[in-house]
Amino acid sequence: MTTWNFSSGPAILPKPVIEKAAAAILDFKGSGIGVLECSHRSKLYEPVVASAESRLRKLMGISDDYAVLFLQGGASTQFAQVPQNILASTDVADYTDTGTWASKAIKEAKLYGKVNVIASSKEADGTYKSIPKDLKLTPGAKYLHVTSNNTIFGTQLHAFPDVAVPLVSDMSSDICSRVVDVSKFGVIYAGAQKNLGPSGVTVVIVRKDLLGKVDRQIPTMMDYRTHIEAGSMFNTPPAFGIFVLDLVLEWLEGAGGIAGMQKINDAKAAKLYAEIDRNPLFAGTVALEDRSRMNVCFVPLNKDHEEPFKKLCLGRGMVDFTGHRSVGGFRASIYNAMPEAGIDAMIEAMRDFEKSNG
Ligand SMILES: *Cc1c(COP(=O)(O)O)cnc(C)c1O
Repeated sequence: MTTWNFSSGPAILPKPVIEKAAAAILDFKGSGIGVLECSHRSKLYEPVVASAESRLRKLMGISDDYAVLFLQGGASTQFAQVPQNILASTDVADYTDTGTWASKAIKEAKLYGKVNVIASSKEADGTYKSIPKDLKLTPGAKYLHVTSNNTIFGTQLHAFPDVAVPLVSDMSSDICSRVVDVSKFGVIYAGAQKNLGPSGVTVVIVRKDLLGKVDRQIPTMMDYRTHIEAGSMFNTPPAFGIFVLDLVLEWLEGAGGIAGMQKINDAKAAKLYAEIDRNPLFAGTVALEDRSRMNVCFVPLNKDHEEPFKKLCLGRGMVDFTGHRSVGGFRASIYNAMPEAGIDAMIEAMRDFEKSNG
């Protein structure tokens, strides 16, 4: 039986990537040693970082105005590292509060400068079901921070706001899933473990002219400039994570690049939402126009159906599709690597469940 992994992260990776990574753990490029065992400064490994950077630059259209870094600490470290590097203590930064991750980013930014939460879609029960539009920025704001995809609640910013200030975006759960105009952004950051690779590597894309303007000392390891100067090799990088990330990007090139992947993702999500809307036993949980194409959240209308539907899916090889503990119900995370057949399996389960319980 095929296993369909709907995990929200760490998440499914493309099968050919896993096969290549597994082989390289045993023997890296015919060297007799595995990729986990070789020096990051060796002739064998060093080209990997350059390759990953160059692939990401080409795929996303990242100009030389930006540095591309492979760091550690996850997106959660970036919540603090971004303002620490680009927000002076007297500066104001605008943030939108669209979910749990956004609110964590807000909390950290307050440690460094003035933070203005210019819009929030938080509901009385603590959940989020939509994306605020019509943003009014603070005059003189240094940047506007947005979470491009709210992994937990299943909402997504389908159109990045057109603003005069640089956008800073947490793209952890939808980076490389759709085409974005990088030139609108000051910083893009993403933990790799949703759409780009294994956990342990964090991608940071930062416009270099924003750096060096804050009125504080930045610890060496937290200063983006350290890692820019050293090409992400100031200290031991997350070597295996970058290696797998490079393989994922190679796979993405072969799948038609980001534009090609976006078409596939749109079709996959449309298909699953169509079934959620058609099936009388289930309902979506968020505003139609803000539905995420990566994390599809839905609930059974009858609470008693939750356990039996879960059992049916588990019996068919589907795993990790339950909603976040704050939302309940179901969440099918359908990142780039989830084949359409996985969505078909979920749809078939919903239809069969309707037949026996409708
Ligand atoms: C998972 C996630 C995070 C947290 O990432 P870590 O790498 O675990 O720190 C932050 N933001 C978003 C949008 C996420 O999906």
